[in-house]
Amino acid sequence: MNQRSSRRSLDDYYIRIAWDVSRRGNCRRRAVGALLVNKWNILSVGYNSVPIGSTSCIDGGCPRCLSNATRHKGYDRCICIHAEQNAILLAARQGTITDGLTMYTTLRPCLDCLKMIVQAGIREIVYDLPFLLDDELEATHRTLQTESGIILRQHPFTKPLDTPELHLVDSDMPSDDKKK
Ligand SMILES: [Zn+2]
Ligand SMILES: [Zn+2]
Ligand SMILES: [Zn+2]
Repeated sequence: MNQRSSRRSLDDYYIRIAWDVSRRGNCRRRAVGALLVNKWNILSVGYNSVPIGSTSCIDGGCPRCLSNATRHKGYDRCICIHAEQNAILLAARQGTITDGLTMYTTLRPCLDCLKMIVQAGIREIVYDLPFLLDDELEATHRTLQTESGIILRQHPFTKPLDTPELHLVDSDMPSDDKKK
């Protein structure tokens, strides 16, 4: 393979970095990585974590994640911040303008993240893994996409082979729940 044919595309380059970022996550339930980029550069990164200074979720810092709350339940007592939201919030903390940026993320954003991404002025989302929503949530998700004009693109699957199960789609449920 010569240098030209082995050279990574920009999408591939950013998605692989997003997977690497996900490995820094400190939530026991979910591990996602997200980047905010402009045309040339990475301006912010985020992974699932509790607020800076709090006891990390893997050390028992989040009561909701410690409990057996199932997917989509109990988020009003979850202190973990999703990767996409962290990328936006850490940009805010550093005074980085998010308007017009592109987000790369390992997982299709949930509705909560999508609304924040839209409101932060991000114009495009490139994600790797799908995230299945129930019909009602999916319809709301799609309406928000259409009305905001945001572009969502799924990247051809690039998850690294050594990715722990926690990083996969339906990890946000207690393990005994998964066996059913
Ligand atoms: Zn957590
Ligand atoms: Zn939590
Ligand atoms: Zn989310």
